[in-house]
Amino acid sequence: MAYADDNIFAKILRGEIPSSRVYENEHSLAFMDAMPQVPGHTLVIPKYPAENLLDVDPEYLASTIQVTQRIAAAIKVAFDAPGIMVAQLNGSAAGQTVFHLHFHIIPRHDGIEFKLHARDLEDPSVLEEHAQRIRAAL
Ligand code: 5GP
Repeated sequence: MAYADDNIFAKILRGEIPSSRVYENEHSLAFMDAMPQVPGHTLVIPKYPAENLLDVDPEYLASTIQVTQRIAAAIKVAFDAPGIMVAQLNGSAAGQTVFHLHFHIIPRHDGIEFKLHARDLEDPSVLEEHAQRIRAAL
């Protein structure tokens, strides 16, 4: 399948639809997941038209995983999370629903389950407050 320029994350990168941005550099962007599995659920994407891990330029991948590490550390502080889950899905058979490469960063606490993937839209003002919290911990 060829990369589709009209996918939702391509639109976020182009600023055509709103998102709560946490951090960006030349090669990658971190922003809040609109349907978080737990508070603080953040996505990191390359500024490169790749559907998944298998077709991304390695330079962009290197930046994206470095940003993922940096944001994970900030989320750990901002959400006082003893555990951090990083997830990355490739292909619909693996559960991928948006076909622009992304890493999920999900703070985890003992005894707190996370919600199902991509189900409940969060209030944008709550997402913005969470993004601010993470930015303050960067
Ligand atoms: P995937 O299933 O492809 O690994 O994950 C896609 C993620 O994108 C899901 O966690 C879903 O909640 C999130 N998502 C879907 N649409 C939007 C959107 O319009 N904005 C943001 N910020 N996240 C989205």
